[in-house]
Amino acid sequence: ESPEGQKMLEFRRSLPAYKERDALLNAISQNQVVVVSGETGCGKTTQLPQYILESEIEAARGASCSIICTQPRRISAMAVSERVAAERGEKLGESVGYKVRLEGMKGRDTRLLFCTTGILLRRLLVDRDLRGVSHVIVDEIHERGMNEDFLLIVLKDLLPRRPELRLILMSATLNAELFSSYYGGAPTIHIPGFTYPVRAHFLENILEMTGYRLTPYNQIDDYGQEKMWKMQKQAQSFKKRKSQLTSAVEDVLEDADFRGCSLRTRESLSCWNPDSIGFNLIEHVLCHIARKERPGAVLVFMTGWDDINSLKGQLQAHPLLGDPSKVLLLACHGSMPSSEQRLIFEKPEDGVRKIVLATNMAETSITINDVVFVVDCGKAKETSYDALNNTPCLLPSWISKAAARQRRGRAGRVQPGECYHLYPKCVYDTFADYQLPELLRTPLQSLCLQIKSLELGGITEFLSRALQPPELLSVQNAVEYLKIIGALDENENLTVLGRNLSMLPVEPKLGKMLILGAIFNCLDPIMTVVAGLSVRDPFLMPFDKKDLAETAKAQFAGQEYSDHIAVIRAYEGWKEAEREQSGYEYCWKNFLSAQTLKAIHSLRKQFFYLLKDAGLVDQNVENCNKWSHDEHLNKEKSIAMKTMEDGQVLLHSNSVNAEVPKVPYPWLVFNEKVKVNAVFLRDSTGVSDSILLLFGGNISRGGLDGHLKMLGGYLEFFMKPALAVMYLSVKRELEE
Ligand code: ADP
Ligand code: MG
Repeated sequence: ESPEGQKMLEFRRSLPAYKERDALLNAISQNQVVVVSGETGCGKTTQLPQYILESEIEAARGASCSIICTQPRRISAMAVSERVAAERGEKLGESVGYKVRLEGMKGRDTRLLFCTTGILLRRLLVDRDLRGVSHVIVDEIHERGMNEDFLLIVLKDLLPRRPELRLILMSATLNAELFSSYYGGAPTIHIPGFTYPVRAHFLENILEMTGYRLTPYNQIDDYGQEKMWKMQKQAQSFKKRKSQLTSAVEDVLEDADFRGCSLRTRESLSCWNPDSIGFNLIEHVLCHIARKERPGAVLVFMTGWDDINSLKGQLQAHPLLGDPSKVLLLACHGSMPSSEQRLIFEKPEDGVRKIVLATNMAETSITINDVVFVVDCGKAKETSYDALNNTPCLLPSWISKAAARQRRGRAGRVQPGECYHLYPKCVYDTFADYQLPELLRTPLQSLCLQIKSLELGGITEFLSRALQPPELLSVQNAVEYLKIIGALDENENLTVLGRNLSMLPVEPKLGKMLILGAIFNCLDPIMTVVAGLSVRDPFLMPFDKKDLAETAKAQFAGQEYSDHIAVIRAYEGWKEAEREQSGYEYCWKNFLSAQTLKAIHSLRKQFFYLLKDAGLVDQNVENCNKWSHDEHLNKEKSIAMKTMEDGQVLLHSNSVNAEVPKVPYPWLVFNEKVKVNAVFLRDSTGVSDSILLLFGGNISRGGLDGHLKMLGGYLEFFMKPALAVMYLSVKRELEE
């Protein structure tokens, strides 16, 4: 054993899980289902799968065992497998591997596979009984992700068919009984852990402590969205629909008197805007922490990739926080490059403070050991959906009390810590105890499609057996939606289109765009659009260079009035630059993320091969039909528009159409709405009347056959039709 190996072994034995090793293995050998709970960081994810592997090897079953451990996010599957391989002194892909969408590292001798829950569900499509799998470990079930809840029903049906299969459910919090009773009273093993106390500061304490003054003005450029703010003001004459939570927050703020706070603080609090994430306030708090004598890393909880990126841009321009000799500024989100991923766990040089800007994945699935300070913005991006229009929305919303406690706890791993909650205590008191399970707040169409393609029986009956079944209305909406896009027939049977859609790793709407792209002979650009929509926008909008970035993006959009076409051209240009070895400069010059473009590139390849397998394309990926679009359809019309259910909608300031006084198209198609104070559309493309008449939202029943009939022998297709078909919600002009 090498000294490092010895050190690693000692570290592993120091984890709380080690004391429970025998009890865990015993329970697993004697029960088909075991629930394991324990504080984050006690060693569930990295240790338990290894204990099983080691004991199988000891029992001379090493060669025949196959352990699958699911993670809700691809980044944790990758990070954990890398860590476990390192703990075993191996390279990734030997006995330990991983598999996530588009990537994987797995060898012939891999016995322990970390994968996303989605990958396991996909495997079930082709291998209903999970033949050859000896153990399934479902991790982070307390998060109650939709895929995990779904998997639990599927596995419940599977267990009687595979009596030797072992199922282990792992959860960070103490609601283990819920899962245990779902599996008929499966035994629960709790790993006792220890954390240090963490002092909580709420906004009023922070303002008192630091003397920071909030004004209505210094919050305007929060989120880097001054323009959004202006438009929001204009939209205020329109009726706003507020979530119950927002109104609850406004109510308590109205009643709160913050007795005991100084006048200055009280004035400040009256300017606090609960709808925006205060970048300037975060910057101020980070400075306050960075100046402290006391060493220790800082973990900042943000809502997602976009605000992490803009905040990072702002902080890099700061004299103290942007000084690499004093601060190591890192991001931690689902799509960061693995080089940065490793830095998160490393100890910075002496005198350098590590600051990690993270999404809620750092709440439970990733443990950064040296964190002493936590900054909590109180929000997370949560999917919700508009049942009326079947439109999913991704909104930053307030987290639950359980999540806030969990965030706070991250500061007490190695010594007593401090947590800065950037909202008043009275707002915390309005938070729900636990977050609603995803199954209850998310559109169910992908899931329903999966139920049909896995042949799990009637959709309604199947979902009624969930841990917490979704509302009937949501299920009916999803079924109706699948019928409308032609994935299910009138009797809820899977159509040919539906089967094809279930094989594509994107939501049904985007999948249908691909299939229509293939049929309309515009697959190449459509693949780029769909990949872009399902990865993320490749255009970066750095806080301090937003104007330049917008100009760069507008150049790609040209006269097309389309964010989607901007992405296509940016991607095409990047590929060309890559051929000339200048991809990096190209990205730099045009404010593009090379990492996102690479992800789009590999997703496109995957789409292509899946479509080829399905017999929908026969060309080569590099020269499958070049694209053109309709330029002859131009009409001067005003941009004031509305959708039926939201009243006025506004264009997101990142859209190339946001600043255009008149878009010469009567319609805009879009993919995603974001509800903040008003409703914002992110990416949009201008389309003409004729396209919408031909293809717009109500092509309804009949599915693909219907489209083909309607189109007759029409073959000079544009890409805009393919876009328009898929966007079921269309903005309508206000003035005729
Ligand atoms: P749990 O799943 O119970 O939250 P983990 O098994 O993820 O705990 O982590 C156990 C311990 O291993 C953590 O406390 C952390 O100290 C350490 N650890 C986990 N991943 C890494 C990593 N990538 N680098 C360094 N240490 C790690
Ligand atoms: Mg874990």
